[in-house]
Amino acid sequence: MTTTFDEIVAIEEETELRAYAKMPIAPVRGRGAVIVDEQGEEYLDFYGGHAVALVGHCHPRVVAAIRAQAEALLFYSNVARSRVRALASRRLLAHAPRPGSKVFYCNSGAEANETALKIARRATGREKVVSFAGSFHGRTIGALSATGIPRYRDGVRPLLSGHVHVPFGDEAALAAAVGADTAAVLIEPIQSIGGVRAAPPAFYRAAESICRERGALLIFDEVQTGLGRTGAFFFGDHADIGVRPHMITLAKGLASGVPIGAVIVAPEVAETVRVGDQGSTFGGGPLAMAAMDATLATIEEEGLVGRAAAMGARLAAGAARVPGVREVRGRGLLLGLVLDRPAAEVAAALLARRVIAGTSGPPDVLRLLPPLAIGEAEVDRFLAALEEVLRA
Ligand code: PMP
Repeated sequence: MTTTFDEIVAIEEETELRAYAKMPIAPVRGRGAVIVDEQGEEYLDFYGGHAVALVGHCHPRVVAAIRAQAEALLFYSNVARSRVRALASRRLLAHAPRPGSKVFYCNSGAEANETALKIARRATGREKVVSFAGSFHGRTIGALSATGIPRYRDGVRPLLSGHVHVPFGDEAALAAAVGADTAAVLIEPIQSIGGVRAAPPAFYRAAESICRERGALLIFDEVQTGLGRTGAFFFGDHADIGVRPHMITLAKGLASGVPIGAVIVAPEVAETVRVGDQGSTFGGGPLAMAAMDATLATIEEEGLVGRAAAMGARLAAGAARVPGVREVRGRGLLLGLVLDRPAAEVAAALLARRVIAGTSGPPDVLRLLPPLAIGEAEVDRFLAALEEVLRA
């Protein structure tokens, strides 16, 4: 018995909390930057399933690793040793900014940020957390307390005490906010939902030295910017940034769609964590670890960090020439196109042309988060569709 698209919509409306504004498609298959819906229509995915399809949808290497692990052992607790986790962790930490870093696994970006903030409070014995207006860190109460976008925070107060927000990119405000009582400064290096906004490069270095001077820990939320997305493996690796945060939080594409969150912790901070301080039933489970290892191997062997830089440059330069695009923001393949009209209308018109793009908080910013493995032909197809829509 088949279920029609309209029936799927009706059942979802009847059964699910109305938490999402939904796109009128039901993808059933994917490969690379293309997804196929219930009706067999193909879409070019420049939204990447919300930045999760980092190495592309259903990369054969990742699918094979998941299948093999599922047949061998779906799950066992973190209290047992695991070869797949050991080898996957070594592969991830080879990219860590500081030698001797350690990792903790959980299941989402929000949890990764919660974990990092808990580690910072315990490690420093301090309470205050400084984060930035316009940032997004997740929807659990702790992550929300750090999030700097009012509409996610309104209606659920009181949030956690000890959190303050300063304007993003404002060195003086940051210096004034960070004191001897500050556990951590949490930065989303490019504020993605906030409209793909970056700070001037000197700001990140200033944040690092302010944290060093005052004994606060610097945390980068790289849930969106990490793993090559911006054209460097981590944001701090960019030549013009050159920052090594104490902790980096990851999620989204790290296991290509198997739920995962991770916190990379610098050695001197890692030393402060004791048995029993942190825990997660599913975090670091074998299925997620097999998927992570295959995802990272794919990023490395297919040279996807360099590809994100090259394809991002082509996409940004092409988009800047399209009439109706006022400004191109971001780095690599995390781009925001500031348009002369509402981005939601443009996203809908692109969808009608079988191209998927994202929106963001500011209504005029179209957000692009395609797989890092896109090719020139796909970039050019996206640009042609965008031009068609904006000329109409
Ligand atoms: N941090 C950032 C920068 C994010 O973009 C997101 C999710 N959009 C999160 C944290 C929260 O991740 P999750 O939805 O997996 O909890």
